[in-house]
Amino acid sequence: MAEVKSEPDIVKQEINENEIISEKIEVNIKQSTFQKQYSLIREMRENPDGPGYNAPVDTMGCQENAAKVEGSTPEEIEQQQKIYRYQTLISLMLSSQTKDQVTAAAMAKLKQHGCTIDQILETSTDTLEKLIYPASFYKRKAVYILKATKMLKDIYNGDVPKDVKEIMKLPGVGPKMAYLTMSCGWKEVVGIGVDTHVHRISNRLEWVHTKVAEQTRIALQEFLPKDEWDRVNYLLVGFGQTVCSPIGPKCNRCSLSKVEKLCPYYENNVKEKKTKKKSVKKEKKLKEEEEEDIEDLVPEEKLPKRRRKKIDPGVKTPTKKRKSTSNVSDDDDDSDYSPVKKTRKSIS
Ligand code: SF4
Repeated sequence: MAEVKSEPDIVKQEINENEIISEKIEVNIKQSTFQKQYSLIREMRENPDGPGYNAPVDTMGCQENAAKVEGSTPEEIEQQQKIYRYQTLISLMLSSQTKDQVTAAAMAKLKQHGCTIDQILETSTDTLEKLIYPASFYKRKAVYILKATKMLKDIYNGDVPKDVKEIMKLPGVGPKMAYLTMSCGWKEVVGIGVDTHVHRISNRLEWVHTKVAEQTRIALQEFLPKDEWDRVNYLLVGFGQTVCSPIGPKCNRCSLSKVEKLCPYYENNVKEKKTKKKSVKKEKKLKEEEEEDIEDLVPEEKLPKRRRKKIDPGVKTPTKKRKSTSNVSDDDDDSDYSPVKKTRKSIS
């Protein structure tokens, strides 16, 4: 599960991020490796038998949460498109640090209540909080949604602006939401929407070496062909939700782990640990075998006590006399003990 940060943490993180983003990013990617990795991820995501098929984002992503555009006249269609864009934006605002399932449920409640700019402006903060609960930071998000909605009404003519910079002026809206609003809401891809999954996987596969999502976006845009900008978000978000999860990635199900040296993270973290475990086991086994060989050569009385039990494999090791709980009599138990007693005497 993604780590949920407190609000002061997020503010601090944003300040640090601005400093980090201004650092120079070097992009040095091996195209042949990248092509192999990318096509295997596509296969895992798009093949119905693949481990990355049918991820939560595929059915509960921002565009799935907005009402479909239906209308019989151009005016109606235009009005519906405005609502669609607005709902896409609200869905993205709710999705921050929140699971897709929770966002989808909150959007369903909002749409049932009425999720147009005018309807939300008539809604109190209290009611809005209740409608979007349990999305993380629902109180803060309710305030942001109301303020952003008012701005859309007053400044942007009741529509989501068709400009990333303008979208980012809305409270609570960062670059990821702005680029995704442009691609989902306006069907115009002007940048890559980089969320935690895209950022993490791009670094695990060493496509980029970056500290924050915004750096990753800039680096990815350097080498990814523009017609892949939209798809890379869908591919990696779903891949991160199903296979390459933040904690305990399911490498045994991932095609990249089957090809030698294709996933640096797997080679350096997962495979290395497995190999270490194996070699520790092997070493232990060899040591035991070695000790057994020595026992064959050394007289029993000279062996350390812990190794002496092997002197007579036919002899049972004595155990504490138990109270009989079965239908076997105590005499029978004694008879089992007798050869052991004799052997113990003869050893001492
Ligand atoms: S870390 Fe594991 S799951 Fe992620 S891409 Fe590498 S092999 Fe696949």
